Amino acid sequence: MPRKRKTPAPAADAATTAPKRTRKRAQLLKGFKDVLPKDEQYWDHVNRVIGKAASQYGYGKIQTPVLEDAGLFVRTVGKGTDIVSKEMFRFIDQGGDDICLRPEETAPVVRAYIEHGMQNLPQPVKLYYHLPMFRRENPQAGRLRGFYQFGFEILGAGGPVVDAQMILIAHNICLDAGLKPGEVTVQINSIGNETSREEYIKELTNYFRSKRKYLTAEEKKRLTKNPLRLLDALMTSKREYFEDAPQILDWLDEESKNHFMGVLEVLDALEVPYVLNPFLVRGLDYYSHTVFEIWPTDKEGKSQSAIGSGGRYDGLAEILGGQETPACGFAFGTERLILALKEHEVKLKAKKMPEIFLAQIGQQGKVQAMKLFEKFRKEGVGAYENFSKDSLKAQLDQANKLGVKYTLIVGQKEVLDGTVLVRDMESGVQEIINSDKVTSEMRKKLGSK
Ligand code: AMP
Repeated sequence: MPRKRKTPAPAADAATTAPKRTRKRAQLLKGFKDVLPKDEQYWDHVNRVIGKAASQYGYGKIQTPVLEDAGLFVRTVGKGTDIVSKEMFRFIDQGGDDICLRPEETAPVVRAYIEHGMQNLPQPVKLYYHLPMFRRENPQAGRLRGFYQFGFEILGAGGPVVDAQMILIAHNICLDAGLKPGEVTVQINSIGNETSREEYIKELTNYFRSKRKYLTAEEKKRLTKNPLRLLDALMTSKREYFEDAPQILDWLDEESKNHFMGVLEVLDALEVPYVLNPFLVRGLDYYSHTVFEIWPTDKEGKSQSAIGSGGRYDGLAEILGGQETPACGFAFGTERLILALKEHEVKLKAKKMPEIFLAQIGQQGKVQAMKLFEKFRKEGVGAYENFSKDSLKAQLDQANKLGVKYTLIVGQKEVLDGTVLVRDMESGVQEIINSDKVTSEMRKKLGSK
């Protein structure tokens, strides 16, 4: 008896019955953020403010690579800092090089200054940047692992006037961005030159030893690694135990004191508001003399996290093998500045939106509408379109939602006649305009030349 052959299931059935493969949804890394079009106006606004300040104060834009030799930060920011000891995205690459994603930009700027012989240019050299930074921190509101900083650096410039002008620029950026004078505070201090700092660090270490009972094991470890950074941290987390800590201002030598007094005098003369914070020491190894931070206040007048910070870093170029170069700079966190702008409901300049929607019917209509769109684009007249839609009703609904003044309709009849149907969206009145004249007619209607 012939064997019955199994008939294979029809292909279509197989497709419908086969279990659907579920794929893991791709996800953003923890602590990173996508910037979406809804926030575009804030980023454009910040870029405009920075660009304006840069051109007014004579700064040129610098862009350095995302990856750098890890040693660049170990040598400058310092081994005892959180940034270097635990936050860098650092790895050995395929060629055995110890590299990292940049956690900050002052060291790369100074590296570039030396590497491109900028010390031979007329001094000072003024550079600014707006670039992504990477630190493996514990993410929380306003604290990301991938974030943007913009900063201004002046190299080859000593003297207190320079520090004061940097603070002025940082403060003006906040005001130009739309924050009011009471909504940001400049905190300022001096950590003096190396000699006075060494003396102070000894005193501070003794002080903290006498307060060991208030320190956690982690903080005790920090005491041996970086007492200045510890002071910074403790003044935020448990200030009440350490109010009587020695203040660095009492340990400044003559030169350091004169420099600091000079900065304050210029700030007073230029009416830049500031508050002295005797415990602001910033823990990065490269700072000397003036250090400052910009703090926003929320609507209740409470301080949030700093939006910007900076200071003088006279020794940095030498650490990187360059010649002695007095320098000063600051950096702002872009996301934090934007948070402050949102908190204070700063009104941004509205972007000019198109007032025309180009609708089409049928394949020929689509092509003709696309040609028209290009004509408008070349003449600088903005227009919306949705060439993927076929239904005129859907396109008119979209035009309505967008609130345009006119919808231009191109169907088969208009293609044959060489015309465009122009619909006034408010009155519903429609008129026929010759395609050759439509751009100039629309310009007239919209009041642009
Ligand atoms: P710093 O380089 O640590 O002095 O930081 C300068 C500014 O960058 C700060 O005032 C913040 O506005 C911003 N910033 C620093 N770390 C972060 C972070 N993890 N996330 C977002 N912004 C940051």
